[in-house]
Amino acid sequence: MPDFQAILEHIYQDAVIASDKGTVASYIPELAHIDKNNFGIHLRTSDGNDYGVGNYNKPFSIQSISKVLALSKAIALIGEGTWKRIDVEPSGHPFNQLALLEIENGIPRNPLINSGAIVIADILISNLKNPKEDFLNYVRDLTGDETINFNKDVAHSEKVTGFKNYATANLLKSFNNLNNPVEDVLDFYFHQCAIEMTCQQLTKAFFFLANKGICMLNKTRLTKSQAKRINALMLTCGFYDEAGEFAFEVGLPGKSGVGGGIVALLPDHFVITTWAPGLNKKGNSKLGMLTLEQFTSKTKLSIF
Ligand code: GLU
Repeated sequence: MPDFQAILEHIYQDAVIASDKGTVASYIPELAHIDKNNFGIHLRTSDGNDYGVGNYNKPFSIQSISKVLALSKAIALIGEGTWKRIDVEPSGHPFNQLALLEIENGIPRNPLINSGAIVIADILISNLKNPKEDFLNYVRDLTGDETINFNKDVAHSEKVTGFKNYATANLLKSFNNLNNPVEDVLDFYFHQCAIEMTCQQLTKAFFFLANKGICMLNKTRLTKSQAKRINALMLTCGFYDEAGEFAFEVGLPGKSGVGGGIVALLPDHFVITTWAPGLNKKGNSKLGMLTLEQFTSKTKLSIF
C-alpha cells in the first residue's frame, strides 16, 4: 500500500510553489474574488482511510461538479428514461456551447455540459416535491453532513449574468426538450451549481460511485451498472473539451467545475478531490490537473 499521506504532501509542496496558478473564473462575478492561493487535496480509500493536505476543509463553489450528483439523482428517479432526452457522447466543445445543440435538434450531447445539465434540472423539477430542498438534502445525505448549503449570493450572481444559460434553456424549450418554465429550471440549476462543499465533503459524496452505487452510510443509491455508466460519462465528458487530455494525463473518471474543484475516482480503490481556484484556458483547475497527474503517476493507480 503506498504511503498516501507522504505522497500527497510531496505533490502539494511541489505544486504550491508553481508560478503559474491559472486564472480564477470571473464570468460569475461572485467567484472572481476567490484567492487563487487556496489549495487543498483530500483522499479517501475504499477501506475507509482519510488523507488530506492544505485547505481540504474549506468550502468552495462546486459548480459543474454538481452535474454528476444531479445526474445520479435523475437516474435514481427515472432510470433509462433519462437517455430519451440526452445523448452520451463527448461534445469536444466548451461546456456552454450553443451551436451543437441547434444542429442536433435540441438533444444535448451529454449530461455534463450545460445543455445536458439543464435538461437534468428539468427532470428533477418534474420528479421532486420541493426540488431545491430535496436535492440539497440528497447531497447532505450522501455526505452525512447537514451543514452543506447553497451560497445564495453565487446563485444570484449567476442568475443576473447567465445570459448564455438562458439562451441554452430557451433553445431547449424551442425543441420541446424542457417541460418546466425556463425561469424555474434555471433557478434550480444556478442553485445546484452554487452549493458549497469542502474537498473532504465532496470525496464523501462521490464515494458511492467508487463503491458500486453504495454510499458512505451503506445505502444503495444506484445499481452497480448505473454507477458504471456515470463513471464512463465522467471519463469521456467530465472535463469540457479537455476530457481527452485528462484521460491521457490522469487516467481516471472525474469531473471539474469552474470553482476550481476536481473530483476523480478509481472504482473499488479511492476517491480524490482537489481544489485550486486558478483555471487553465479550457476552464479546468490548473494545479488540480497537475496534482492528479502526479498522484496517478506516483501511486501507479489508474483505470488503465
Ligand atoms: N454554473 C456554471 C455555468 O453554468 C457551471 C460551469 C462549470 O462549472 O463548468 O456556467
